[in-house]
Amino acid sequence: MRKPFIAANWKMHKLGAESAIFTAEICRRIERHCKTRDVVVCPTYTSLHFVYEALSESAIGLGAQNMHWADNGSFTGEVSAAMLLTVGCSHVILGHSERRQLFGETDAYVNQKMRAALSSGLSPVLCVGETLAEREADRTEAVVSTQLKAAIDSISSDNILRTIVAYEPVWAIGTGLTATPEQAEDVHRLLRSLLCSRVGKSGADSMRIVYGGSVKPDNAEKLFACENIDGGLIGGASLDAGSFAAIVQAAE
Ligand code: PEP
Repeated sequence: MRKPFIAANWKMHKLGAESAIFTAEICRRIERHCKTRDVVVCPTYTSLHFVYEALSESAIGLGAQNMHWADNGSFTGEVSAAMLLTVGCSHVILGHSERRQLFGETDAYVNQKMRAALSSGLSPVLCVGETLAEREADRTEAVVSTQLKAAIDSISSDNILRTIVAYEPVWAIGTGLTATPEQAEDVHRLLRSLLCSRVGKSGADSMRIVYGGSVKPDNAEKLFACENIDGGLIGGASLDAGSFAAIVQAAE
């Protein structure tokens, strides 16, 4: 049995104090579900400390939305894994499609970030997913396989096991279009079989593969009921405490 994993990606929303108030509201609504689910919130960098403080009595974890692979150096505007650890992060989202599409992140960058995150002790939430054009050209399997294999290239099995994989079809992110449970389950099954070839069957069976892309309270239950869908990475709906709480509740 895999414990469901639900992460909130707040993207570039909410100022520091606002994030702290919102976090307190989330805690109030979902704390009681956190024994049976792993929940992580991922605010923007400038809110990490505010949210960390607001989570001091909580079982909810803290994650960042990105990081650089170097330990330190002349990388203006970037943040390292060690810096994320000092503000209390346990997780970091890597390879989000917005990073890939808007900021030119390649599979090779994502692999470097995966190595740096894992060797520092952070657990990555690794995002993979195809565009609409790629799906329509019947290239979904090829695209997500290439992204996953590249991201975990030369990483030890023990470290791969600490990764959470998020299947996020690009065409479903922030669009209101959601993959059907069947479409998502097909890709999740494929991802698990690819993981199996790196970490063995029991390893792959223990890893969480979550779905992201317009998850809402009214579609979460059917998605999370699929055999290989172990929770969600939630964008827009995580900005509303009631919607996020309903989604967390749907993951059992
Ligand atoms: C995301 O950005 O990771 C995401 C899944 O967004 P949304 O839920 O808004 O589609």
